[in-house]
Amino acid sequence: MTWTIVVGVKQVPDDDEIGIDPDTGRLDRASAPAVMNPPDRDALEAALSIADEVDARVVAMTMGPPMATPVLEEAVAMGCDDAVLITDRAFAGSDTWPTSLTLARAAEALDADVVVCGEETTDSSTGQVPPGIAAHNGWAQLTYVEELEPDPEGGRLIATRDVEGGHERVAAELPVVVAVAYGEFEARPAGLHRKIYAENDFEPAQLTAEELGIADEVGLAVSPTAVGGMETVEPVERRGEVVDDVDGLVEPIRGVET
Ligand SMILES: Cc1cc2nc3c(=O)[nH]c(=O)nc-3n(C[C@H](O)[C@H](O)[C@H](O)COP(=O)(O)OP(=O)(O)OC[C@H]3O[C@@H](n4cnc5c(N)ncnc54)[C@H](O)[C@@H]3O)c2cc1C
Repeated sequence: MTWTIVVGVKQVPDDDEIGIDPDTGRLDRASAPAVMNPPDRDALEAALSIADEVDARVVAMTMGPPMATPVLEEAVAMGCDDAVLITDRAFAGSDTWPTSLTLARAAEALDADVVVCGEETTDSSTGQVPPGIAAHNGWAQLTYVEELEPDPEGGRLIATRDVEGGHERVAAELPVVVAVAYGEFEARPAGLHRKIYAENDFEPAQLTAEELGIADEVGLAVSPTAVGGMETVEPVERRGEVVDDVDGLVEPIRGVET
């Protein structure tokens, strides 16, 4: 059996360059170039490394506007066989609930056996999307994954997970959603020929809300998150002091006002 591995990749503003709008205190997304969410490189590497071991097809998916296409091209340059842009004006204002639903329906439509995601994004950072995909589809989930070992005979994926105080080795039956721990899968470089192909000849397939049968279940109106307010917090001034020994440390700690 050929496994279909679908990788979620998201375009985010480059957080090295993003500024804050001084009037609103909100992120000024237009001030920064758009890049692939860095943890999604780990997700791509994890997916491609499974495909190195089993007969598999790797497909990248992104939910976003057409301007997100470059992240799909990057995924194809890294080695993905195909990529899908899930795009529709109906998605505007979607929070993590409809985003997860959309990606879950797309994973189903693509006949995914494994969905691989990053740990979280650098612009919203909820980490809710991978478990959301699993919940919407009733699939198994493996989070904080550090290592993956496919078991094609058993139809399972075995993972080593980073858990508080140690590591856990756990097997999940397919289909399964994986969120990989950031920094655990160093992304392979894109080859020159793949880069040229991805940038010049590759066109991603497209899926709309209508095609996924969820036109009434996405967008701002059905998003349960409400932003109650925003405030800018001034950085706390930290006191620095060099002490000679442990006794010298105790007094300054006692003296700290809480
Ligand atoms: C009320 C509200 C309105 C919003 N409106 C908008 C809006 O209009 N436009 C907008 O861009 N955002 C909007 N957002 C943010 C949007 O909800 C989140 O960006 C989105 O749900 C993903 O959540 P996250 O970034 O926390 O993902 P996480 O859960 O932190 O992501 C984990 C992993 O899931 C995968 N993943 C996440 N998102 C995607 C994606 N889109 N495609 C493919 N894979 C993905 C990636 O592998 C990623 O590493 C809104 C949020 C709220 C609360």
